[in-house]
Amino acid sequence: MRTQVVIVGGGPSGLLLGQLLALKGIETVILERKTRDYVLSRIRAGILETGLVNLMRKAGVAERMDRECIVHDGTYISYENELFSINFKELIDQSVVVYGQTEVTRDLYDARDQIGAKTVFEAEGVQILDADSNAPLVTYCVNGVQYTIACDFIAGCDGFRGVSRKTIPETVRQEFEKVFPFGWLGILSETPPVHDELIYANSERGFALCSLRNENLSRYYVQCPLTDTVEGWSDDAFWDELRSRLPQSIAEKIVTGPSIEKSIAPLRSFVSEPMRWGRLFLCGDAAHIVPPTGAKGLNTAASDVHYLSEALIQYYEHSDEQGIDSYSEMALARVWKAERFSWATTNLLHRFPDQSGFDLKMQRAEIESLHHNKAAQKWFAQNYVGLPY
Ligand SMILES: Cc1cc2nc3c(=O)[nH]c(=O)nc-3n(C[C@H](O)[C@H](O)[C@H](O)COP(=O)(O)OP(=O)(O)OC[C@H]3O[C@@H](n4cnc5c(N)ncnc54)[C@H](O)[C@@H]3O)c2cc1C
Repeated sequence: MRTQVVIVGGGPSGLLLGQLLALKGIETVILERKTRDYVLSRIRAGILETGLVNLMRKAGVAERMDRECIVHDGTYISYENELFSINFKELIDQSVVVYGQTEVTRDLYDARDQIGAKTVFEAEGVQILDADSNAPLVTYCVNGVQYTIACDFIAGCDGFRGVSRKTIPETVRQEFEKVFPFGWLGILSETPPVHDELIYANSERGFALCSLRNENLSRYYVQCPLTDTVEGWSDDAFWDELRSRLPQSIAEKIVTGPSIEKSIAPLRSFVSEPMRWGRLFLCGDAAHIVPPTGAKGLNTAASDVHYLSEALIQYYEHSDEQGIDSYSEMALARVWKAERFSWATTNLLHRFPDQSGFDLKMQRAEIESLHHNKAAQKWFAQNYVGLPY
């Protein structure tokens, strides 16, 4: 089998890249390790930056998103009983939208079906061969039968635990990592959200987040020790803990109900450089991870897709390699800014096990500065809605 671009991973990065390339007549094959239902059952990101919204429109998959998404003109931050808003619309005349990653992925799969592009599910043992040559190959197995695809390029969109990054030799690859000493316990519940915009809460019991998917679907999180287990948290214990971390005026309005999903996610900052090796390009979580505090994971994956799709289109339409040669540098410049914002908001809003009295005073001074200083709010707003591509 031969194709132009093999995309390893059928998550949002791989699907969006495949769609943008298909619109320019570039053929792709997506290899996905799991089933489609499995990919569509993962509850993850929910806040889309303007850049991702525009990419969805450019890819021709925005019809349902534009109809069903909820526009957020700002966000709220609380510390103890104080609650203040950062109004993106007033500060920088921009907004973000709430539309679940699951829905983004579903729309992209539906669009891929319509164009008849090839997706292989349950592709096991994917191996990328000769990526540093002009004739790379990708091999994989389905039902015990091995297949080989010859291609021009490989897009490694296979997430943090994928095979693509590890294909880059250790002598070439440099990894930068910070693992935070806590996780987020999250629940999804079919209850009306407590607020029409997100509330990020810093409290002496730890961080909490009130988020939402739609008017009857709430997503809430509390910071928890990494040693905690989902089984150890009853729904009642979760609601009590959440309420204890919010200002009283918010806590008393929380509508509780059974959780329909409950999970614990560790928090990590991670970047692997470079994002290109020969004819292999890393994209999204395959190359970088952020803690979810700034809602940057999916959005940063989308900016990679933007740079990579433009570079490959430039190559195929004009035989111009300038875009592919500068892809890693361009993508990483924006990745590091998103890493900085996610790291800064995580430090601002969480309680750390080794925080000294001085550290707590510094954190408090920084939150108060964000509360009262318009320049600080503007910086926050610019980063939250997403830096331009
Ligand atoms: C629990 C959780 C909560 C999150 N919450 C948020 C949030 O609120 N906001 C936010 O912005 N981001 C959030 N993120 C991050 C966001 O979901 C990711 O940044 C986003 O999914 C990245 O997309 P991706 O396509 O690059 O990678 P992924 O979504 O990880 O997709 C990679 C795909 O590759 C497949 N794959 C892996 N290995 C192989 C292989 N060897 N062969 C073939 N296929 C393979 C996987 O099955 C998967 O489908 C969250 C992540 C997690 C885990």
